[in-house]
Amino acid sequence: MSRHKRLAEADRQYIWHPFTQMRDYQEMEPVIIERGEGSYLIDINGRRYLDGVSSLWVTIHGHCRGEIDQAVIEQVGRISHSTLLGLSNPPAIELAKRLVEITPAGLERVFYSDNGSTGCEVALKMAFQYRQLRGEGGKTRFISFKNAYHGDTLGAVSVGGIDLFHEAYRPLLFPVLQAEAPYCYRCPLGLIWPGCGMECLGTLEGIMKDHHQDVAALIIEPLVQGAAGMITQPPGFLAGVRELCTRYGVLMIADEVAVGFGRTGRMFACEHEGVRPDMMVLAKGITGGYLPLAATLTTEEIYKVFLGEHHEFKTFFHGHTYTGNPLACAAALANLAVFKNDKTLEQLAPKIDLLSQGLERFKDLSVVGDVRQRGFMAGIELVADKEAKTPFPPHERMGIRVILEARKRGVIIRPLGDVIVIMPPLSITEGELEELLEVIYQSIETVTAS
Ligand code: PLP
Repeated sequence: MSRHKRLAEADRQYIWHPFTQMRDYQEMEPVIIERGEGSYLIDINGRRYLDGVSSLWVTIHGHCRGEIDQAVIEQVGRISHSTLLGLSNPPAIELAKRLVEITPAGLERVFYSDNGSTGCEVALKMAFQYRQLRGEGGKTRFISFKNAYHGDTLGAVSVGGIDLFHEAYRPLLFPVLQAEAPYCYRCPLGLIWPGCGMECLGTLEGIMKDHHQDVAALIIEPLVQGAAGMITQPPGFLAGVRELCTRYGVLMIADEVAVGFGRTGRMFACEHEGVRPDMMVLAKGITGGYLPLAATLTTEEIYKVFLGEHHEFKTFFHGHTYTGNPLACAAALANLAVFKNDKTLEQLAPKIDLLSQGLERFKDLSVVGDVRQRGFMAGIELVADKEAKTPFPPHERMGIRVILEARKRGVIIRPLGDVIVIMPPLSITEGELEELLEVIYQSIETVTAS
C-alpha cells in the first residue's frame, strides 16, 4: 500500500477535523501536508500549493524561515518546557519586554496563555476580577459585537456573535450586551456609509448610556471582524469605540489575534486610529506561525489591583500548563527579529497596493457581491444575485467548491461560508501574489460557469 493511501486511510479512521463536516471530508482525497517552503505547502506526494491563508492566518515570514527554525532548535537544545507558575525562563522574559515595547503605550504587563481563545478568556476573567477587587462588584457584564468571533472556549463563545457557530451553545453561555457592528455591505440599519454618520456607533452609545454601571468591559476585533467574513469597519469606528469606553468608564479589550503582527499594514490594528486599549490579546502570528502562544497585555493600573497579602486571595487564579512555553517564546522573539531585519512592514506596503489592484477585476464578476480589504486581509463575498445581494443557498456549497477548484490549481485557501478569504504570508512575493489572485479568479469563474 502506498504511503499516501495508508496515511489517508488512517486519517479517515482516526481524526475528527475541526470546523469540518466529516461526512464530506470522508468522501474527499485528503491533502496531507508534510513540508513547507516560503509561501508553499508541500504534500506527501511532493505536490506544491501556495498557502493563500497563511495556514489559518498565522504564517508571517513564510514556512521554514531559517532564523526562526534556528531559534527553536537552539531552544530545544537548552530546554523545551518549564512552568511559568512561580518560575520564569529567559525567552518568556525577553518576549514580554519586547511586546510591551512594541504595543500601544500603557500596556505594560504580559500574561501568557497558548491560543487566541484562552487569550480572550484571560482578558474577560481579568476584567471581571478587577471589578470585584475594586469593590465594583456590580460591574459584571460585557459588551460585545454582532458577528464577533473571539474563539471557541465557552467564555469566548459567550462574547461571540456568529449565530451559526455560537447559537447552539447559548444555554451554556453568560448573557452579554450585544452592540450592532458595522457591516456596510449589508448594513443592519439599512444605511449607506459615509452618509450614515456611523449610526451603528450610536447603538453602542445607547447600550453604554443605559448599562455602563453594570459593565466590566467591552471586547472588539479592531478594524476587521475576521471570522465573520473579513468584515471591515469604516475609518473612525474603532476610535469612536475607544472614546465611548473612556467616556463611560468601560474597559476596552482589543482582540488583535487575527489582525495583529502586520496583517493590516501596521504592527497592530489599533495603531491606525491611535487607539490605546486597556487590554490587548495577541496570538496567531505572534510566533510567525510556528507554535501555539498567546499574550494578554494590560495596564499597570489593572495589574496593581491584583496585588495583596497572600491570605487576601487577590491572586489571578488562572494559568495553563504550557503558559509561557520557552520554545514558543523563542520562536516569537525570532519572529520579531525578522520583522526588524527584513523591514517586513515597509516591504508589505507595495504588496498591499498590488492586492488592492488585483482585487479590482473581481468586482466585475457576476457572483461577486462585495470585495473587502484591509491591509493584507481580504474577503470576496459571493452572492447568487448581485442586485438583491441574495446569498447562495447553503446546499450549493459555493465557497467550498471554489476552494476545491483552487486546490486543483495548486492553491490552498479556506472560505468563511461564501466569503473567499485571501490572507497570504506577509513574505509572499509579488509574483506569487499575482498567481494566487489569478488562480482564485479562475476558480470562481469555473465554478460559477458550471
Ligand atoms: N480571536 C480572533 C479575532 C480570532 O480570529 C480567533 C481565531 O480565528 C480567535 C480569537 C481564537 O483563536 P484560537 O483559534 O487560537 O483559539
